[in-house]
Amino acid sequence: MKDYLTESLVTPRKYECDVCVCGGGVAGIAAALSAKRAGAERVILLERSFMLGGLATAGLVTIYLALCDGYGHQVCFGLAEELFKLSIEHGAEDRYPTAWLDGGTVEERAKRRFEVQFNAQLFALSAERLLRREGVKIMYGASVSGACVEDGRITDIIIEGKGGREAVSVRGSVVDCTGDADVCKLAGARTANYAPGNKLASWYYGVAEGELDLYMVGVHDVNDDKNATDLQDKRRFTGLDTDELSEMVQIGHSAMMRNFIDRRSVKPDLVPVTIATTPEVRMTRRLVGAYTQDIDEVGKRYPDTVGIFPNWKKIGPVYELPFSALYGNDVKNLAAAGRCISVTDEMWDVTRVIPVCAVSGEAAGAAAAMCSDFAKIDIKKLQDHLLKSGVLLHNYIEELK
Ligand SMILES: Cc1cc2nc3c(=O)[nH]c(=O)nc-3n(C[C@H](O)[C@H](O)[C@H](O)COP(=O)(O)OP(=O)(O)OC[C@H]3O[C@@H](n4cnc5c(N)ncnc54)[C@H](O)[C@@H]3O)c2cc1C
Repeated sequence: MKDYLTESLVTPRKYECDVCVCGGGVAGIAAALSAKRAGAERVILLERSFMLGGLATAGLVTIYLALCDGYGHQVCFGLAEELFKLSIEHGAEDRYPTAWLDGGTVEERAKRRFEVQFNAQLFALSAERLLRREGVKIMYGASVSGACVEDGRITDIIIEGKGGREAVSVRGSVVDCTGDADVCKLAGARTANYAPGNKLASWYYGVAEGELDLYMVGVHDVNDDKNATDLQDKRRFTGLDTDELSEMVQIGHSAMMRNFIDRRSVKPDLVPVTIATTPEVRMTRRLVGAYTQDIDEVGKRYPDTVGIFPNWKKIGPVYELPFSALYGNDVKNLAAAGRCISVTDEMWDVTRVIPVCAVSGEAAGAAAAMCSDFAKIDIKKLQDHLLKSGVLLHNYIEELK
């Protein structure tokens, strides 16, 4: 028996769009909205699950990290700020940034970063409503499984869902917001994997004594992790293999159950109310773009800057985002946003967080509405559009110092 199967497929071209955004996480939400606002008529957002938000909602990663530099100055504006406010339109779950939203001084703002904890379900519902209102066609249960490329351009994106295998014809451009650069890989663009792999994380929400709490089982971003377990030091996961991901999720569920039983001995009325329904992997696969941004490039100016963002881990550093980190040299009408943009391993940990995903999503979406060959984009037109949308392109505060 051969170890592969040759299939002959006839795939109906059922849908057509000008901009196809693949993946409905924070980057995809921003990209789809931005494409629509930049004038694309038919924007389709393909999402394999049945909820928007990706890791931020289904993954219960409900902390919208900093929009500021840590010295009291906001640096992320545009959709990064709009989605921040949308995530708490019905109230913050925790960490409400009073000094930032209710008129604090720079000194007060410097004491606490511009971040917030939101409710995952409400954010997903609000984002869906906003996209629908603005005319984005959302297709749930649509798993991207192929990309047809002719003359260096994607002509069709193949989806698999309840309707079977179908093609979405693309007149303009595609934005890969799958988090794992799935489209880049399927279209034959150069990609790189995160070699160190991901540590296990398996978060859940529970209610005890009337209080809702997020329990971060496994590894999370707080160094003095009182909930840390030995899971942190054992397995590493690529996030790119079905069998491995399934095993990871099941190890995570066992750890979650142990954590729950331990906690219940202290809080007898504790009940879990939500568990993460998407694997919590941080860095998996990314585009190898026309440019690869590195962690040392703090404050560096690029001719093709399309946004700025801070380092959530450190107070001070602010980076510009070069557009050339969002597209590659192999597929003309394909851009990446969110977790899968072109950055070094060290930089990946800075750019993968929610506000930066919104920044790259906004830039990629607007660009997709404007051209179908990203290397040839009129960068001035894109920058002017982003400026008009409220995005800051350079760190003027730094320049004034
Ligand atoms: C444990 C953990 C803790 C974190 N903590 C924080 C934090 O505190 N604050 C913070 O700001 N960030 C945090 N992050 C990072 C942040 O949550 C994510 O990196 C960010 O939300 C990623 O957004 P994204 O849109 O790029 O990708 P994702 O959120 O991964 O979204 C990708 C979307 O694409 C869909 N998709 C994937 N493949 C396909 C396909 N083939 N076809 C169709 N759809 C597809 C997915 O279902 C998903 O909806 C954390 C991440 C992890 C794992």
